[in-house]
Amino acid sequence: MDEPKVDQKVEEAKSAESEKSKASKVDFDRGVSQINREFQEKSTRKRAHDMGLAYIDLGRTPLNQDFLKLIEYETAKNARIIPFFRVGKKIRVAVQNPEAPETKKAIDSLRNEGYEVDISVASVSGIEDALKFYGEAQQKYRKIELVKGAGKESIGTYEKEIAALSELSKKLETITAEEGLNLLDVTAMKTGASDIHYEPEEKTVIVRFRIDGVLHKGLEMKHEIYKNISKQIKYSSKMQLNVITIPQDGRYSFVFNERKIGVRVSSIPTPYGESFVCRFLVSEDEPKGFDSLGFQDSALKKLEKVCKISHGMVLATGPTGSGKSTTLYAIINKMNTPENKVITLEDPVEYPISGVTQSQIDEKRGYDFANGLRALLRQDPDIAMLGEIRDLETAQTAAQAALTGHIVLSTLHTNSAIETIPRLVNMGLPPFMIAPSLDTIIAQRLVRRVCSKCSTMEELSESEKKEFKDVMDNLEKINHNAVVEVPEKVARVKGCDACSQTGYSGRLVLAEIVTIDEEIKALILNDSSLVDLIKAARKAGLITMREDGFFKVAQGLTTLEEVYRVTNVSGT
Ligand SMILES: [Zn+2]
Repeated sequence: MDEPKVDQKVEEAKSAESEKSKASKVDFDRGVSQINREFQEKSTRKRAHDMGLAYIDLGRTPLNQDFLKLIEYETAKNARIIPFFRVGKKIRVAVQNPEAPETKKAIDSLRNEGYEVDISVASVSGIEDALKFYGEAQQKYRKIELVKGAGKESIGTYEKEIAALSELSKKLETITAEEGLNLLDVTAMKTGASDIHYEPEEKTVIVRFRIDGVLHKGLEMKHEIYKNISKQIKYSSKMQLNVITIPQDGRYSFVFNERKIGVRVSSIPTPYGESFVCRFLVSEDEPKGFDSLGFQDSALKKLEKVCKISHGMVLATGPTGSGKSTTLYAIINKMNTPENKVITLEDPVEYPISGVTQSQIDEKRGYDFANGLRALLRQDPDIAMLGEIRDLETAQTAAQAALTGHIVLSTLHTNSAIETIPRLVNMGLPPFMIAPSLDTIIAQRLVRRVCSKCSTMEELSESEKKEFKDVMDNLEKINHNAVVEVPEKVARVKGCDACSQTGYSGRLVLAEIVTIDEEIKALILNDSSLVDLIKAARKAGLITMREDGFFKVAQGLTTLEEVYRVTNVSGT
């Protein structure tokens, strides 16, 4: 086993070298185009000034699909015009040349629709980038529909439902608030919406539906009607009715197709009344919680802390089939509140999560993790999940995003948690980027759970006792407070009908989680050895996957055979 390992290390080092030289060429090209771009932006700014118009750097403006869609993609492309901001009927557009006939025509037709149009001038590259983003976003949107099995027909259906909804605003005037809220919920469910947004504006209240991750306007409501509907929402979700100046959370449910649908509600005060986001909890099997996945004690505490971070990179590592993405989904599920915008980039989309914009990469078309992430970040998400970090470019973009205030979740193939640090360094990611961006590393494996129907508790053999003692002594040596006694009995499997004679039923995580604290950050910056990194992580309370396995054997949840099967016996 030792020899191939050495070869592997040499190969890894070689490939890291070639990655590095490739990277420097890319850096050089990027540097040149960066200078060109800056020059272009400068001259555009001057051009705008001469015309007495505002200037906009589209390269630094987060674009929103909902605004882009105010103009059809084809029209936007021909007329070189990008809508980038909107409040009510006021919109701001970026144009390459305000005097071009096609552009003038597009602006006129917006004005004919009743919009107040504010014009800014953008550079050729800025417009190009925005169009590319728009095109990709459209394709992504189509992809998601394909994944969900929604064809043109069903899109037609929901448009019909939405048309019916604007009729509904009249109907709301003739029924009670309770009936009204129910009608809104049921109709939204029919459109396939994942949540309803009630947004009071000065003169009216806009009700929008999120369908496949994108917000669509459903209807407008008079303030006098909304007053009753909003009271009904607060009453149903057990919020305090007389409190209107602070945000509140609550829940209610309604029945749709003989199914009880839970609704998670959050309210935010606005100058024109309270705004609500009502999210439907329709998923048949909601992502599991950390404890039911098998995380315990310190691992559980660390994960709960991860769910509260405001920015940083969280990486899950382990071989294929070790449950990495399930863990990331569980984290996303906890972070996925209506106020947070969550976008994922997956290969493929594993399962739909309500309220999350999911997109699938397509490497053949050049839509890979690296440029997908860049496109995704322009939608300014709070949380971005990236299927996998495979190359330097993706690692760089992910770290950059984490440094600029986003939470980035991703996976990587490494054996242990700490090995992720040298792996990133070998990829070519400089330590000065790793240290401040990396927040937590989760390494994990899955072991089978013993069948509760047929397993029996039996005494340990002498050799098993010794193995346990070694592990516990070692933990004691590093002064660990999680040390447990060597158990008297452990579970032995047998096999029955309930477990198809395997003796096992279900699976459970063995985890080692490293929180990147100040000491580890300093070590990363100093390019310290793996041994020093491990020492520091141990000092901070790291329990290895194998030790976690021993704890779980001591609790009768799994067997030593399983722990050895999935962890490297020679110890990494
Ligand atoms: Zn059984």
